[in-house]
Amino acid sequence: MSEEVSNLQTTAGINQQRLWGHLMKLREIGAGEHESEGITRLSFTPPEIEAKKYIIRLMEEVGLDVKMDAVGNVLGRLEGTNPELPVIMTGSHVDTVIQGGPFDGSLGVLGAIEAVRTMIEHSEQPKRTIEVVSFSDEEGTRFGAGYLGSKALTGQLKPGFLQLTDKEGFTYKEALLSAGFDPGRYIEAARSQEEIEAFVEMHIEQGRVLEEADVPVGIVTSIQGPLWLKVKIQGAADHAGATPMAIRKDASLAMAETMLAVERVAVTYEGVGTVGKLNVTPGGVNIIPGEAEFTIDLRHGSEEARSSMLRDLYAAFHSIESARGVSFVSEITKEEAPAVCSSEIQTVLDEAADECGIGSTPMPCGAGHDALIMSTVSKMGMILVRSENGISHNPKEWTTAEDCATGTNLLLRTLQKLAHGEMERDV
Ligand SMILES: [Zn+2]
Repeated sequence: MSEEVSNLQTTAGINQQRLWGHLMKLREIGAGEHESEGITRLSFTPPEIEAKKYIIRLMEEVGLDVKMDAVGNVLGRLEGTNPELPVIMTGSHVDTVIQGGPFDGSLGVLGAIEAVRTMIEHSEQPKRTIEVVSFSDEEGTRFGAGYLGSKALTGQLKPGFLQLTDKEGFTYKEALLSAGFDPGRYIEAARSQEEIEAFVEMHIEQGRVLEEADVPVGIVTSIQGPLWLKVKIQGAADHAGATPMAIRKDASLAMAETMLAVERVAVTYEGVGTVGKLNVTPGGVNIIPGEAEFTIDLRHGSEEARSSMLRDLYAAFHSIESARGVSFVSEITKEEAPAVCSSEIQTVLDEAADECGIGSTPMPCGAGHDALIMSTVSKMGMILVRSENGISHNPKEWTTAEDCATGTNLLLRTLQKLAHGEMERDV
């Protein structure tokens, strides 16, 4: 470690009260009349635009060089002493789902600003430029897509998105126009891969792993990618009284066995598997179900392990088919690759956690984030902060001020190390 970095260890932490103040202020934008209505800031609607303006004002106040790109990503830059080096990016999003909570996305943006502000207050100029980003439309609630900002920034946005419509019939193109953007220029938001060294996102966990472990923050090892299946089992719809058990082709029982197989493969490979939507027909009290249709959601941090989960599941389909005289038809309806976090950044996060005296808890991240998209062009790392009762995308979403501060101190220390230290690409 260079002497320069060692000196930084004396730096005081972030200002918890100030961070909390901004979280509570941002919470007022798009808030319903009653607390139970939560916060609604759908992409390119007035509350979401107002939230971005809040972020812009705050970034300017802090002293960052602020700009908004062609798709509305807000970028605040703290110039490094060596601006030629690829930058360190950090941030999240301020759009929300319908009746969402005050921390999803907001903590990652406001925490990043607070971390950089702390550096500025201590007259620390990093070697690398640090860019704080508030991405557009992470949630995808309004147009059903999501990751618009990070996809545009990484050059992965396809022109088809402009034709997507919201439930009022407005196209994405119209939404961008009404918010003052030129839809045809979205390509200009793309940044070259060489410009970005690393992306670190802090986000609330949205699950209960950290709470169960009684620790405030976790360091992400990988972001799980979902694989969705639509399954249809064909059996025979017979009379519930007149058909003995031995000769039935009960599609519902075959489905039940499949559901248990989903649980089994998830446990075996330490992934997760869910059957969340199911339907049996004809659907009468006295009729043996002749057909069952359901979905399967499989997730794992490793693509290889997820493939093994799928392979075992297909094998289960075959044995259930022959045991029960039914037939399966299945189709993959979604397949997103998991993202493995950079080992280099995980090491930095571990060291930083150690220096902050918070210990490191490695864990996979179950929900998708902009970090997933950013990982396709740069090294990526994530910090998760404990959620109360694991509740998220809900007005009851909560994270304590202390935990927000702990996560932000870890982010600060990580940014200091990444922005001052030598990275593989430099040598
Ligand atoms: Zn989020």
